[in-house]
Amino acid sequence: MKNSTATGTTATADRQQGAAASYRGRFAPSPTGLLHQGSLVAALASWLEARVHGGTWIIRMEDLDTPRCVPGAAEAILATLAGLGLVSDEPVIYQSARRDAYAAALHALEASGYSYRCNCSRSDAPGVYAGHCRDLGLQTSPAARRLRLPAGNICFDDGIQGRCCFDSASIGDPVIYRRDNLAAYQLAVVVDDAAQGITHVVRGADLLDSTAWQVCIAGALLLPVPRYTHVPLITEADGAKLAKSRHSLAINDDLSAALYGALMLLQQSPPISLKAAAVSDILTWATGNWSPESLAGTRAVSLRS
Ligand code: GLU
Ligand code: ZN
Repeated sequence: MKNSTATGTTATADRQQGAAASYRGRFAPSPTGLLHQGSLVAALASWLEARVHGGTWIIRMEDLDTPRCVPGAAEAILATLAGLGLVSDEPVIYQSARRDAYAAALHALEASGYSYRCNCSRSDAPGVYAGHCRDLGLQTSPAARRLRLPAGNICFDDGIQGRCCFDSASIGDPVIYRRDNLAAYQLAVVVDDAAQGITHVVRGADLLDSTAWQVCIAGALLLPVPRYTHVPLITEADGAKLAKSRHSLAINDDLSAALYGALMLLQQSPPISLKAAAVSDILTWATGNWSPESLAGTRAVSLRS
């Protein structure tokens, strides 16, 4: 099959897994720094969803972009999560050990004609990639690889954000393999979610548009599409994106306050007495009272100034 485009929405909706499948969720931090309040919100929401569904919750370390990984960060993130009572139900998988699986996925996409080589540099093609190399049939190496998206809307039903559609022209064909021969996050996350049997992905709304890409990559690889739920992105009080350097992010030694704060950001209404309670008591309350409905349609929540 030459010049294929990734499957459109009908096929992917058919393959979308229902809640009936046994629930497997995950939290997938990148060890590029310490766990912060924004990532804790995603971790806690994914953990709570797994617990209330009687499911399995897995931590996956997304340490593929080795130049950006900070030595010791993976261990520090896992230690903080453990202190918060958020412990992976299965051994933690490291993406750095899964390069062969990503290469195999790339070969499959090349063989089926979904992937093409792209030599554009970012300065050649700023902003949305307009498909310059799509039909050039480039064979040069090294080259990045992109996935051919189908024309038109790519849609999925999000557990919090509702129906989300992205016009493929507004997001452009994604890079699935980088010029430096590393699998791109977009490909690795799809391969791993499928390999780990993940049925439900709960993560921050900053990844909402990436989801349209991931739905298409899964479709092209004939992999099941998990159910996606995007919790609000946590921003600074002034609405600015959280920067790792800003102090507002750090989770300090007061783990109870951090968990309590994450519940507040998730628009739950924990009693004030819980703020100084043991971490295990906070999690018990949160599991018993979890109501993600209060987040419906919310894309961002800011920290209080
Ligand atoms: N590793 C990504 C991040 O830390 C999250 C990927 C995902 O949850 O799909 O932003
Ligand atoms: Zn190109």
